[in-house]
Amino acid sequence: MRRGLGVMTVLAFAAILVAGCEPADTNAAPDAAPALDGVEYGLVIHGGAGTITRDDMTDEREAAYHAALQAALEAGYQVLEDGGTAVDAVIAAVVVMEDDSLFNAGRGAVFTSEGTNELDAAIMDGTDLQTGAVAGVRRIRNPIKLARLVMDESPHVLFAGEGAETFGRQFDVEEVDDDWFFTEHRWEALQRAQEQEGTSSNWRQEEDRMIGTVGAVARDQAGNLAAATSTGGMTNKRFGRVGDVPIVGAGTYASNRSCAISGTGHGEYFIRNVVSREICARMEHRGETLEEAAHAVVLEQLVDHGGSGGVIGIDRDGLITMTMNTPGMYRGHYLAGEEPFTAIYEDEGDGR
Ligand code: ASP
Repeated sequence: MRRGLGVMTVLAFAAILVAGCEPADTNAAPDAAPALDGVEYGLVIHGGAGTITRDDMTDEREAAYHAALQAALEAGYQVLEDGGTAVDAVIAAVVVMEDDSLFNAGRGAVFTSEGTNELDAAIMDGTDLQTGAVAGVRRIRNPIKLARLVMDESPHVLFAGEGAETFGRQFDVEEVDDDWFFTEHRWEALQRAQEQEGTSSNWRQEEDRMIGTVGAVARDQAGNLAAATSTGGMTNKRFGRVGDVPIVGAGTYASNRSCAISGTGHGEYFIRNVVSREICARMEHRGETLEEAAHAVVLEQLVDHGGSGGVIGIDRDGLITMTMNTPGMYRGHYLAGEEPFTAIYEDEGDGR
């Protein structure tokens, strides 16, 4: 059986050589790009979705979020403007947000039921579907950098817990003490969640548990797409719970055939609905636009199942989406030929 297959493989390669052609890379961006409907290059970011309302905000907090989003956009856009890759751009943007305690990722990660921090992250390159992800890491300052090493330096896709950290040590990935992740507002959120345990949960309490995951999607000057997402997960999570973020196709997905998506919201629903891949698949198989696909999945499918959250996306034609079924999502975009845009509340739209 093996021998027969071997002969067939040799014959197949011989046929390819005789024909003088190479196997097609079906994910590669088209050589001669047709006129674009959207932008040549740019990025879209989010800093989490949930019940974010003007009543709960102060002017200072609003300004702080806008400034943090702006800083992440500038870091990612600089890479793209200099001719860098979509992968480098999304990493640059996410690292800025991981280092800002406003967001539930890296430094500002929420607490588990044990009072620890367990972080998840993923990166995907739409050029060749290469992916790297980490789950439940406790000592890594920037989990998205570790996810990138999984993609670039290992034959695997997802490393979890201690093993992920052992892998990172081989590459001198920066490790930090528990103190790095301590923030008063996240600690108080854990106390509230634990006090409410056993009482009937409502929308507001659920939302309190997860706001602030970060993500970025980009299209570079070569037309390649990438997506990256990083999170502390959900407040009071237990028993090694892993959310949608490091599950390829759930919270993070990118393919040059269709689009790059990063999600934020109640992870269990994003996993069950395979949200990110579902949006790209609808584009590929049903010919839907990015906006149509994102609306169908986030505003209909997820809502029908009771899942709250949102997504950001950019597609192979440079069109974007920022779609949420929650009152707010920290978000922004910086697209070639345009000024950067940041927004918080759902009714602010996408600024275009
Ligand atoms: N999706 C994340 C999780 O469930 C949380 C969030 O996006 O806010 O881990």
